Amino acid sequence: MSKKLTHRQRRQLQRTQSCPLCHQAGHYLWACQCGCAICDFCMQRDIWGFTCNNITWECPDCGKIHSY
Ligand SMILES: [Zn+2]
Ligand SMILES: [Zn+2]
Repeated sequence: MSKKLTHRQRRQLQRTQSCPLCHQAGHYLWACQCGCAICDFCMQRDIWGFTCNNITWECPDCGKIHSY
């Protein structure tokens, strides 16, 4: 069985606006078109896992590069 989320589950995550990593709502969410999202809190905590230059961040799911 794949551990990847279904599209329906991803849409649910986006709708609830809570972070899929820490499951807390209320933080600003950085969201990717693929449905992956990470809150500002987790982004700062794991910043060097998502960025190598503090100007862009890479989606851990699809690898797309976003600017801050
Ligand atoms: Zn979080
Ligand atoms: Zn993505």
